[in-house]
This record gives sequence, structure tokens and C-alpha cells, in this order.
Amino acid sequence: MALKKPVIIVGAGIVGLSLANGLKQAGIPFEVYERDAAIDSRGQGWAITIHWALPYLEKLLAPEVLAAVLETEVDPDVGRNDTGNFLFLNLATLDAKFKIPPAARRRVSRERMRRALWRGVEEHVQWSKRLVDLQTTEDGVTACLEDGTKAHGCLVVGAEGSNSKVRQILRPDAYRNAQLPVRFIGVSMNMSHEQVTPLRRLDPLLFQGSHPDTGVFLWVSMLDVPRIDPTSKSTSQDYRVQVNLSWKVNGPADEVAGDDTQRLQQMKTKACGFHPILKAAIDSIPDGTEVLEIKLADWPCPEWDNQGRYTLVGDAAHAMTMYRGEAANHGILDAFELLQCLQKVHDGSIGHEEALNRYEAKMRERVAPAVQLSREACLEAHDFCSLNEHSAVLRRRAIANV
Ligand SMILES: Cc1cc2nc3c(=O)[nH]c(=O)nc-3n(C[C@H](O)[C@H](O)[C@H](O)COP(=O)(O)OP(=O)(O)OC[C@H]3O[C@@H](n4cnc5c(N)ncnc54)[C@H](O)[C@@H]3O)c2cc1C
Repeated sequence: MALKKPVIIVGAGIVGLSLANGLKQAGIPFEVYERDAAIDSRGQGWAITIHWALPYLEKLLAPEVLAAVLETEVDPDVGRNDTGNFLFLNLATLDAKFKIPPAARRRVSRERMRRALWRGVEEHVQWSKRLVDLQTTEDGVTACLEDGTKAHGCLVVGAEGSNSKVRQILRPDAYRNAQLPVRFIGVSMNMSHEQVTPLRRLDPLLFQGSHPDTGVFLWVSMLDVPRIDPTSKSTSQDYRVQVNLSWKVNGPADEVAGDDTQRLQQMKTKACGFHPILKAAIDSIPDGTEVLEIKLADWPCPEWDNQGRYTLVGDAAHAMTMYRGEAANHGILDAFELLQCLQKVHDGSIGHEEALNRYEAKMRERVAPAVQLSREACLEAHDFCSLNEHSAVLRRRAIANV
């Protein structure tokens, strides 16, 4: 029996919007409810690498949406002829501890990718609609939104990221993420061609590494390069660069400082002992720059009772640290696999409950080890001397056969 009531997607992030595009292609009714007021109400300021999930993204999106997503590459020239490596450096010497040639990958602006995905399903997305509760009805579900409105559908997909309300409702006893004993802060800054050149000689898109004595981890990533693009954040001559540092917590002194000025000082202090090229980059971060903390926490996707009505995708289903750079890749594959199951409901070959059970069993088997590996990678990345080819930061990524 074809799905007549809409699939309700909560959250218009990359994963919710990828699923929405897939449902649109499949002719399955859906609606997206997002708490933000508009697509541009919040900067989503980092870049992500789509690697092993590229084939699934290609299958989820209409050709014109895919083309728009691929246009969001942080540096299309590098993307066309990608010579970048997975590069893990000794931060004291700049010697490469690991240098692995890239597989097919696209390094995209998360913010612009989200916008391109939204364009594909614009008319189905409602803004300023924060989910606060769920109710099961005789013939479906009702999503209760903060503004007092309600949305009725056949099932609800929680795609609201790592602080998911749907997750909280499904597992009130175990919804909280587990915080890791590592602290992570970073800035986005403009750099001139002269400033950025020594960094881009190491890798044109991104590199990481740690210091053998202090264990401090550095991650440098291009966010934008000079181009004629009205949506770009760069001024015409500047590169936009993200510089992040993390370190293990051994005591109260290792906690993240309270305000931007102190955090910037913390970054500069942590960079002591870095190679002069890296130290100069961090010392050049201007006073007054906002220094953001990203909380490193994960959630390994324990079971929940889906009642044939509720499920989770993306960070809502499996928060993981970014040290293996694959959370969004898993989220895209979640969207693809869930779509496959929902298509079977739509064509009448299976019921809701079986569809969600199939999706969740396969997804959980894939992501539970991935969350664990990302956790290990995060911890090991701060222990330069122990890193070897078996370390989680390098271990082959979980490519599922669909
Ligand atoms: C610095 C950094 C680098 C990363 N690099 C990579 C990488 O290279 N490769 C990779 O694969 N992954 C990477 N990731 C991870 C990736 O960014 C995330 O996995 C991905 O963005 C998660 O998307 P999502 O749609 O699941 O959740 P989100 O992007 O968090 O979207 C959730 C949406 O739900 C909305 N929402 C929240 N609560 C509610 C509510 N109650 N009601 C309605 N709406 C709600 C939010 O406003 C938001 O729009 C990185 C992460 C970080 C922090």
C-alpha cells in the first residue's frame, strides 16, 4: 500500500535534506521541520569530505541537485585534479608520519552543501519548527512543534543532529552523548596568499598532525579560496582557513578557557614547539577572533523501540568524533538505506515495522564499530609516538555493500 501520509523528517541538516531529496525522487510524500528560522540563520562553518558515501549521494539526488552540491567544493581547481593526501604530520618537524593517496573525494563547504540540498526540496521545508514532543495515533504519528502547531504523518525520522529530541524521546534513559577527555577549539580566519602558501604546500585542502612531546593535535582545513562567487565568505584576495587544536585533559588546567581572548592565548600557548610555519600561522590569528569550542562526545547507537513509527539518521543516530572524518558519510548512507526500505513500504512489499527494523539492524551493525573507531582515533591522535599503520586514525573506513 503506497505511503499516503508524509514521512516527517525532523531537522534540515545535511542528512535530513539528503533523505528528503531521495524521497522526492522516489515519489514518497514527506515534510521537513527545522528549528532554525531560515537556511542562513546560523553559520555552519566547516568543510567536510564526502568520500566513500559519494556513490550513495549520487543515487539520492536529482542530477541538477547533485551538480549544485558538487559546485560547493572548497577549491574546485584542486577538486578537479585532486593530488591531496591523507597527511598526518609531526608538528615539530613537518615530517609526514603518514601520507596516504586519496580515494575519490569531494571536500565541500558544509554550509553551501546544505543550501544546495535545500534548494532541491525547498517547498517541503518549514522553518522555525522545533520538535518538542511525539504522539502515536491510530493511523500514524503526530509531531508536536514548539509554536503549538502539529504535523501528522506515517512515521517520524529524527535527523536533528547529536542533541536529537527524537532520540531523547525514544531512549529517555540513555540519550546523552558521552564526552571524551579531550578538548577541541578552533577559529576560522582569513589569510592572504602569502600567509596561506606555506600551508597549502603541505596539502592544498587539509592536513593534521600532532606534537611528539606535548601531544597537541592540529588540524588545518581550507574553507574557501578566492573566486568570483557572491555566496563566498572570502573577500576577493583572501583564503578562508580553519585552524583547530585539541589536547587531552589531564587536569583542570587543561579545560577550555572562558572567553575568546583567553582561548586565543590558549591556542598560541599550545602551539609552542610547533614548526615555525605552523607557529606563525597560529600566531597570526588576529585578536578579537571568535574561538569556538566543539564538544567531543559520541553515542554508539543502542537499540530503541521504533514501534514501526520512529527512527533516527545521521548524528542523531550515531554521534561520533570527527577524527576519521566519516560521520556525514555514514549519515548519507543512512539516508540511502532508509530510503530503500521505505520504497518497499511504498510499493506494498513490507510493512512499516519491518522496514524500520531492517534499516536499523543494518545501520547499527555498520555504525557501532565506526563510533568506537572514531573514539579510538581521537584518543590516539594525541599520542604521536604510538601511532602506527594499525591506528584507528588510519584504519580502512567502513564501506558498506548496499
Ligand atoms: C569540525 C568538523 C569536521 C567534520 N568533518 C567531517 C568530514 O570531513 N567528513 C564527514 O563525513 N563528517 C565530518 N563531520 C561530521 C559532520 O559534520 C556531521 O556528521 C554532519 O554534519 C551531521 O549532519 P546531520 O544532518 O546528521 O546533523 P546536523 O548537521 O546537526 O543537523 C541537524 C539539524 O536539525 C535541526 N534541529 C535540531 N534540533 C531540532 C528540533 N528539536 N526540531 C527541529 N529541528 C532541529 C538543527 O537546527 C540542524 O539544522 C565533521 C564535523 C565537525 C564538527
